[in-house]
Amino acid sequence: VKVLWNDRIVNEDEVRIGFEDRGYQFGDGIYEVIKIYNGNLFTATEHINRLYASADKIQIVIPYTKDVLHKMLYDLIETNEVNVGHIYLQITRGISPRQHNLPNPPVEPVLTAYTKEAARPLDQQKNGVNACFDNDIRWLRCDIKSLNLLGNILSKEKASSNGYYEAILHRDELITEGSSSNVYGIKDGVLYTHPVSNLILNGITRNVILSCCEEIGLPVVESAFTTTQALEMDEFIMSSTTTEVMPVVSIDGQTIGNGKPGQWTKKIQQVFESKISSLVSL
Ligand code: PLP
Repeated sequence: VKVLWNDRIVNEDEVRIGFEDRGYQFGDGIYEVIKIYNGNLFTATEHINRLYASADKIQIVIPYTKDVLHKMLYDLIETNEVNVGHIYLQITRGISPRQHNLPNPPVEPVLTAYTKEAARPLDQQKNGVNACFDNDIRWLRCDIKSLNLLGNILSKEKASSNGYYEAILHRDELITEGSSSNVYGIKDGVLYTHPVSNLILNGITRNVILSCCEEIGLPVVESAFTTTQALEMDEFIMSSTTTEVMPVVSIDGQTIGNGKPGQWTKKIQQVFESKISSLVSL
């Protein structure tokens, strides 16, 4: 398989990563994961827009237009003939002698991207997954899709080493999001989720889900809820590019609703599925 290195599609072993790449030394960079269905990219424009927005927030100037980048990603999935899977893409600030200050003048950012063929987690989507709570110890710019993921990693590790699929993060009592997902509770026919702010990543899947809710007539309230309220929800969902619409059926061992994916969740999944299947191959 081939990879994208800056503006060239090359063999993986041709890629050379600089010793003083600021992504490598500081996590000074940003990334995206874009899902591939039917050999085509899902919500690519939204992901590319978020990538440029993240870059802007940390003063990285991406040296390609959005259209050129979009085209390079298409070329990569065509070259690798990926049918279902994803593209991982990252851009670091570039290579410069190690110092905290931004290089002045700026150096050329370093882009790397690769594709991965990967099956969808259909069994988990059908049966639901278990989650746990964890303190949200991350910084206050969670809106940036930064390469710095140590807070997320520690929470995910705490979850998985205890047999949970995801950690649901909270600041004081208020739930923000999952360690690598957005989260939602449904109570008495209303879907609640944390509003878009510096405390969460504005998920692309989150936006797709909110439009699914509109289509099925499920009212949405974008306001934070507490861990206690979470346990009293009728239904609970987590979402991300790779997990899609994932029912959460227990948290910290306490059953949510009747312990099975709920009716609203299934409806959201159906509409989500129709959006995926309307994607035609390249
Ligand atoms: N929140 C965090 C912290 C994430 O890492 C992710 C994705 O990995 C999400 C939310 C979901 O974002 P998206 O739906 O764009 O994949």
